[in-house]
Amino acid sequence: MRNIVLFGPPGAGKGTQSQKLIDKYGFIHLSTGDLLRAEIAAQTPLGMEAKKLMDKGELVPDQVVIGMIGHKVEANPQAPGFIFDGFPRTVAQAQALDQLLQANGTAIAGMVALEVVEDELVKRLLLRGATSGRSDDQDEGTIRRRFNEYQAKTLPVAEYYKGQAKYQAINGIGEVEEIFGSLCQVIEKL
Ligand code: ADP
Repeated sequence: MRNIVLFGPPGAGKGTQSQKLIDKYGFIHLSTGDLLRAEIAAQTPLGMEAKKLMDKGELVPDQVVIGMIGHKVEANPQAPGFIFDGFPRTVAQAQALDQLLQANGTAIAGMVALEVVEDELVKRLLLRGATSGRSDDQDEGTIRRRFNEYQAKTLPVAEYYKGQAKYQAINGIGEVEEIFGSLCQVIEKL
């Protein structure tokens, strides 16, 4: 199994690149944002609680997302690998993921970060908000709060993987195909 954490701030292009990786390599995509939005669409109690936090631009509790990811990993023992997108977002989530994968006889091969400057991110998110219907993309205040959460809680996750010598970064600005090319080069060496 080749398990990859795709890392980067909101709007970095993780979802777009994940889709291309799935098409090319057959990986299973695990996006906690998508899983949470599915809970909201199904109007589950978990979804309703998560929505309040997501609309404020705050993270949902670690236990919630760790539980969701655990179910998906255990349900896919034959996967060629997983792409983790938007997870882990805290060091506690990263530690839980290591334990979970170890219990399933596998591990993270590497983290790849998409580097994009903040002005470009805000532009992309507001553009996405205009068409996607995602309420958290429509308000600049919410977007800024997501960046603050990212700085405070998620950036330390990069340090966690650097400590395991599993961190690499690529330029996330340019043509989608060009970025995908750089990403594939890194992934194929893992
Ligand atoms: P983006 O990366 O564009 O912010 P996501 O779809 O990954 O979009 O996440 C949307 C929201 O869902 C986040 O702002 C947060 O509230 C919640 N969320 C997603 N993944 C996690 C996670 N791993 N831990 C905590 N909250 C999460």
